[in-house]
Amino acid sequence: MIDQQPGNQDEDEQLEKATVDHDNDDRQTSKYGGAWVAGLIALLGVGIFWFVLSTSGQGEQALLNSQSQVHVVTNDNDNIASIIDLPSQSWTNIDSSNFSLSSKPHWFKVALPETANDQHLIEISFANLDYVDLYFLPDTCTKEECAAAVYRSGDKLSFAEREVLHDQLVFPIPKSKTPLRLFIRVQTQGSLKVPIKLWSNEEYIQYIGSHRVFIGVFYGFMVAITLINLFLFITSRNPITLLYTGYIVSLSLMLATSQGLSYRFIWPNAEGWQQQAILFFSATMIFFSTSFTAKVLRLKHEHPNIHRFFNAVRIVIVIYLVFTFLLPYSLIAETITLLILMAMCLVLFSNIYVAIKGNPVALYLSAAWCSLIFSALLGIADSLNWISLNLDPSYLLMSSAVIETLFMALGLAMLFSQQRKEARAAHRVAQQQKQKAIEAKKGLLRLQLESKEKLEYAIDERTYELEIAIRELNEANHELERKNSIDSLTNVANRRMYDKRIAAEARRSRREKTPLAIVMLDLDHFKLVNDTFGHQCGDEALVHFAEILKRCVKRPSDLICRYGGEEFVLILPNTDIKGASVLAENIRSTTENSPLQCEQKQIKLTVSAGVTCRVIASDEEYELLHAFADKLLYQAKESGRNQIVAQDY
Ligand code: GH3
Ligand code: MG
Ligand code: MG
Repeated sequence: MIDQQPGNQDEDEQLEKATVDHDNDDRQTSKYGGAWVAGLIALLGVGIFWFVLSTSGQGEQALLNSQSQVHVVTNDNDNIASIIDLPSQSWTNIDSSNFSLSSKPHWFKVALPETANDQHLIEISFANLDYVDLYFLPDTCTKEECAAAVYRSGDKLSFAEREVLHDQLVFPIPKSKTPLRLFIRVQTQGSLKVPIKLWSNEEYIQYIGSHRVFIGVFYGFMVAITLINLFLFITSRNPITLLYTGYIVSLSLMLATSQGLSYRFIWPNAEGWQQQAILFFSATMIFFSTSFTAKVLRLKHEHPNIHRFFNAVRIVIVIYLVFTFLLPYSLIAETITLLILMAMCLVLFSNIYVAIKGNPVALYLSAAWCSLIFSALLGIADSLNWISLNLDPSYLLMSSAVIETLFMALGLAMLFSQQRKEARAAHRVAQQQKQKAIEAKKGLLRLQLESKEKLEYAIDERTYELEIAIRELNEANHELERKNSIDSLTNVANRRMYDKRIAAEARRSRREKTPLAIVMLDLDHFKLVNDTFGHQCGDEALVHFAEILKRCVKRPSDLICRYGGEEFVLILPNTDIKGASVLAENIRSTTENSPLQCEQKQIKLTVSAGVTCRVIASDEEYELLHAFADKLLYQAKESGRNQIVAQDY
């Protein structure tokens, strides 16, 4: 259809208007909305950090200090009996709770304060140690007693085998009248951290209460974000929401694993998996975050070089994921930290670069990564004793994860708003093009109508001209026809006309059974007239005789023909011999009594005639009729001229 429906046009105009209005609103909201939300998130971040810093570290007492000593086992003497007997030079003083990656057993000799024997417990707040054995020993004990006084834990043991069924490594200090010595054996693959804390039971109960609230709020938040994004994915099928969900789930599981929560609540019997889980989820977290960043910043189209880097990182991650299950943990663990660090730097610098290039979404993602890296740096600085935060590092991570998640959500929201704006712009362009197409079609239609009108007018004109020409031609034809059938001298029908008419009248006579009469007339001694008075007068005599014939012949159906020279013939349809004879006689007498005046001379004319009649029976009979009339004329001539001879055929 070339013409648009008026209803549709209205709708389109309304849509157009609404789009423009909406776009204006959008410009306002996106200009300030993003910044407002980012400000709120930053404020929330400050609040969370303040809350975490102010609430943690109350009550516990770090036990690994400069008075504690460590012994790294290098020979086979890896049992409590031989450890107790070690000379003092085998022990070294400790200046940090972090030790390099080492799978060798580490023994710690920790001095317990006097009061610790009563209603106290030991917490080792690093849940990913493989084997942790605690020996609370009195001053003296036999080898058997010493070996029996062991509390075992660590994630190489199934969860049910733990001394205290708790996600953290927690050990009650046995009641004793005398002070106890504490020996701790730790053996693990991967990073070795042994943050040993001493709690009074009451203080630990208070701490665990607020800790659980914090944990609950954090994981509740993560679950809510996950579900929201999952629903978003199901309804919108937008892969970005799925990548974001993947990232949140990976981050949450990574943190839950590092806090010992996964082992307690999700896979309490999968000791093997517990080893790999933290690496696995770190890797998936990097995979999802790079994929998410690449999609949100549209690196593939806008920054293909950076996108290639991202792809490389993702390929390494996927290879790494496969190897998490194949290679020994210690081998993987050393590379993963480096890989995560590199990937984080890549993502952060890409974000900053794209943000500088003018993409506001990248700004929010940069903020997200900055918060995570900030907390990581704080954690590192704390563990290197540059600063003293007196804070569970997982609290820092959880806080920054919340801030990061919120900033990423903001980035996602900004991307959606950007996409919506682009879709509107595209719609507007499409509308304009549609409008242009409609205008063009209308123009074409107008042109078509105009040219059609012009053509019709031209056709009418030509048709009219043609009609006139045809009429003129017809008239000319008629004139020609008339001229062809009229004798030019006498203005009566000629021989040609006679031939046509006699055949037609013969047919009529046969059909209608009416008599057809023929009168043959020949001027007498006409040669003499010519010879005596000249041809001029001869011609005038012929015209004079024709006028007499016209006067005498009255019926419209009768025909006067000049048959040749001075010979004439009359066709008299529906006329009997009697009527024809009377007419012929009238002509003869009129001719005799009407002399011609030519060149002051009087010329007397007479005429002879042969008259015959017949009801024609067959089509060819008229020729015989004519011949018979001619014969009768001849008889009249023979009989002396100036007379008629009449006889039925
Ligand atoms: P008859 O009485 O036997 O008819 O004798 P006639 O002289 O009339 O007959 P003939 O046939 O011998 O002569 C006919 C003459 O009529 C010959 C010719 O000079 C003359 N004639 C024929 N046609 C014309 C014509 O168109 N104009 C003139 N002026 N004379 C004509
Ligand atoms: Mg003649
Ligand atoms: Mg004659």
